[in-house]
Amino acid sequence: MTSPADRAPYLTERLQGFGTTIFTAMSALAVETQSVNLGQGFPDTDGPIAVSQAAIAAINEGHNQYPPLPGLPVLRDAIADHRRRFRGQDFDPDGEILVTTGATEALAASLLALTGPGDEVVTFEPYYDSYAAGIAMSGATRRVVTLRGADFSFDAAELEAAFTPATKLLLLNTPHNPTGKVFTRAELETIARICVERDVLVVVDEVYEHLVYDDNEHIPIATLPGMAERTVTISSAGKIFSFTGWKIGWACGPAPLIAAVRTAKQFLTFASGGPWQHAVAAGLRLGDDFFESYVGEMAGKRERLSAGLADAGFEVIRPQGTYFVTVDIRSVGASDGIEFCMALPRTAGVVAVPSQVFYDNENEGRHLVRFAFCKKDEVLDEACRRLIAADGFEED
Ligand code: PMP
Ligand code: GLN
Repeated sequence: MTSPADRAPYLTERLQGFGTTIFTAMSALAVETQSVNLGQGFPDTDGPIAVSQAAIAAINEGHNQYPPLPGLPVLRDAIADHRRRFRGQDFDPDGEILVTTGATEALAASLLALTGPGDEVVTFEPYYDSYAAGIAMSGATRRVVTLRGADFSFDAAELEAAFTPATKLLLLNTPHNPTGKVFTRAELETIARICVERDVLVVVDEVYEHLVYDDNEHIPIATLPGMAERTVTISSAGKIFSFTGWKIGWACGPAPLIAAVRTAKQFLTFASGGPWQHAVAAGLRLGDDFFESYVGEMAGKRERLSAGLADAGFEVIRPQGTYFVTVDIRSVGASDGIEFCMALPRTAGVVAVPSQVFYDNENEGRHLVRFAFCKKDEVLDEACRRLIAADGFEED
């Protein structure tokens, strides 16, 4: 609850306390202090030239009016083929796939369509920031289960206890932002078992589906027994092709669920980025070499930043996926992530994100700080050089 002094004028009750996102705040701080920005997760290199040229061609060819509400047929076909090719899933482009304005709109439209006042939504903390806001906008109540330890695992009994007769939906994210965790098959089976037993819907955010390292495997929860009929699966071209500004995402699921999400989506934006839809359709049809080299490149950056952070004295929690690495700041004598991050531009000339803001129980994540490694090697090297040279990390 916000204190009276923090209340935003005009803002409706259910959105009090959401203020400005941590990503916007930290990017502004980076500009203001001329720090190296490893806060907001966006690549500083463009995605494949073939994809950006397809967007330019689409504009020049006159594809500049509203695309159809569910998305262009050429893109829905490409999404269906992509899901079949990489995940072995079958979605009918006609009715089971909806193109959205980024994963953000797919998440908001799903929550608005499928939940409302009196419903409860279970999610894991730390959680991506738009989840709490989306649940609040729908009028539902969130219940969180904390991911703990170096592998950010959860306690099955705790998860079970979070479910009540009012639980309508479970909101899952794997690969997981901010921790870099990739949920294991066993964990997903536990989640799936409970959702089937309690007849609860699942919305799964898989925007980092192509960024999975080592022997870890991305398993879509919709492929587990009993799950296809109750799951909406969300992904985004922003993360797959490093064009985060294009804001093209999608939701896939059984026709009745997608029809509900489409009803909400049509009154949020109606349709999304026509020319970009053509380009993303081309991107999803790129050869395996593109997808392999993308994850290979990010794996190298993960090593580069993790090694630099370790050299600067941080205990690094090795991410299994995404393009974020988490450190435990207690290893450098700090204890409060928000204070540490507010001081970091001064102590080191670097910006990072305090994971604490992604928790309801703020003591759980106080010691965790997230750095993004989707940046040019020289940018990562400069950040590491500054962190290693820092004369301690006192807090503001
Ligand atoms: N979910 C997660 C876990 C994210 O990290 C992000 C940020 N890319 C989004 C959703 C939002 O994706 P988009 O930019 O496609 O709206
Ligand atoms: N998903 C990005 C991150 O986690 C940020 C997206 C945004 O700024 N809304 O850093």
